[in-house]
Formats: sequence, structure tokens, C-alpha cells
Amino acid sequence: MLANIIIKPGTIELRDIKTPKPSHGEILVKIKAALTCGTDLKAFRRGHPMIPMPGVFGHEFSGVVAEVGKGVKGFKEGDEIMAVHTAPCLKCIYCKKRLYNLCDKIMDTKVLGAFAEYILLTEYIVKQNVLYKPKNLSFEEAAFLEPLSCVVHSMKSVDIKRGDNVLVIGAGPIGLLHLLLLKEKEAVVVISDKHKKKLKIAKELGADFIFKPEKTEAVMKKLANGIGFDYVFECTGRPEVWQASVNYVRRGGTVILFGGCKSGTKVTYDTGKLHYDEITLKGVFHFTPSDVKKAYKLLCKGRIGISRLISGSYPLNQLQKAFDKLARGVGIKYAIIP
Ligand SMILES: [Zn+2]
Ligand SMILES: [Zn+2]
Repeated sequence: MLANIIIKPGTIELRDIKTPKPSHGEILVKIKAALTCGTDLKAFRRGHPMIPMPGVFGHEFSGVVAEVGKGVKGFKEGDEIMAVHTAPCLKCIYCKKRLYNLCDKIMDTKVLGAFAEYILLTEYIVKQNVLYKPKNLSFEEAAFLEPLSCVVHSMKSVDIKRGDNVLVIGAGPIGLLHLLLLKEKEAVVVISDKHKKKLKIAKELGADFIFKPEKTEAVMKKLANGIGFDYVFECTGRPEVWQASVNYVRRGGTVILFGGCKSGTKVTYDTGKLHYDEITLKGVFHFTPSDVKKAYKLLCKGRIGISRLISGSYPLNQLQKAFDKLARGVGIKYAIIP
């Protein structure tokens, strides 16, 4: 089968590799659509601890079951499916505490390689995180299951109510997915980004106000009742933005730290501000199987208009082009169609 291999940051090669065979409990999926993601872009730009090189990559996908291993229940050849690339082990101490996203094994047992003709899904995933694709969803839309699950998890950490003032920093795919879900909850959403084009897309997707980052503090004084936002979602993964985020939240407010920074980076906060203003800093990571089900329901309802985040599509042999564009800040997500 043809599969894109990331050789080193900046270099992708399409190679002919052995098509995997499903063992007990596994299924082989013929990819119909895969999506580029911020994590892939980080790997392409500077390498990523979770994406070994050289190796296959890509983890947002949907497709058709091509072959099932022995003992698989519920799926057969020809089923149209959508899935995520991880599942918890259900045995470790974190799983016992129901903190499934923090499972000891969740990253070690992940499956990569969606920018290819086929992907093999392990028994853990087949049992927990593979779902039937309804006819009303396109394969491209169905491939949003993974990133949307992450954002569902992020939103679950706070109780957003109608009319809440929310700042989303970063209008990349994750910031924009937050925007779509926040508008579902009828929050007032301000989104900031340094790229004008991304802000324009944010506006089209329903952002109430859009701003360049340098203006955010001034904006905060005028909007959000002049006291700061009820919630701030950090979706850039840049330490200086993590640090600045607390300046935009009101007393008693919460900053959700979604964007992962380069490993080893550190930030400092004013202890007095965190203490006297009772600010909550909340890290969020990945998702649980129940987040996946919630994301699935949201997608199936078809109301959020998720396909508006796709900036174009490329065949397998032009994956590098998609990443070159993303690295220049052009586009939100690209669909890769084998
Ligand atoms: Zn992703
Ligand atoms: Zn576990």
C-alpha cells in the first residue's frame, strides 16, 4: 500500500509499504479521508516527541472496513466507519479512577498512519472508539471525530452558559472548533490571532469579535463588562501566550490551557493575581471514550458546519504541499484523499 512517511522535519516521502494484516480483534480500514492536524504540523516543522521519525503519521481519518480479524464483533467488510486513533487500557490506575484520557498506555498504544491507503486499528480501539459513519456525513466531516473529541473534552472542564464572555486565543483548527462549540452554547466569543485571514474565517464562523493579539488587553477593558473574560481558552501552545492568558480573565475566572508547548518550556505567573483573584488554571489533554461519543453525536446532528474548516484537499502524493502551506500559515486544515 502507499503510505506517507515523515523522514525528518520538513521531508515527507510517499512509499510503497506492506499492507498490515488484522490479527485477533483488529480491523483494517481503507482510508477515505484524512485531515491534517496541528500536531502533524508541529512534527513537520520541528519534530514531535509523540511522532517517531522516520515513520507513518496522520491520525484523523474515516474510511471503510477492508478486512476484519478473528473475534471482531459488530463490524464487517464494507462498513463505513469513523474512529479515533487511541483507546484507554481500562486496567491501569488512571483507568480505574476513570481518568481515561490520562491512561498510562494511551499514547504508547496509539495508531498513526492515516496519510496512507490503509490503517490497522487495534483491538482496544475497535472495542471502544470505532463508530458507524451515518450517510448524511461526508468522509471528510467524519474525519473530524478526533479533533472534535479533544475540544469536547476541553469544554467539559468548565460550565459555559448562555451569554458568558469567552476569549479564544488562536484561530487555528482547534481555536475554531472551540468557537463552533461555544456558539452552540450561545456564549459571546472573542477570538484573537495574528493572521488576518484566520480572523476573517473566525468571523464567518460566528465569532462575535475578532482581534489581533496586541489589542486583546484594550479589548478586554471594553468588552466583557470591563472586568475580563469569564473563560479564556489558550489554543496556541506558545509559552508567552500561556503566561499572558491570566491577564485577560476576570476575578474567579478560568484559563483553559489547551495548546501544548514545546517540551521543557516554563512560564511564570504572578502569585498574587492567582491567589487574590482566585484564578483557575486548567490543563486539558486528549479525550475519553465518552467525549468521543459526545463528539460523534454533535457531528451526526450536522448542525455545527464543521466542513467549513477544510481549506482544500490533496491526493496522497501531494501531502507535502498541504504541509508547506500550513507552515506558511495558509489554510486551516487540508483533507487528504487517497
Ligand atoms: Zn489531531
Ligand atoms: Zn489505562
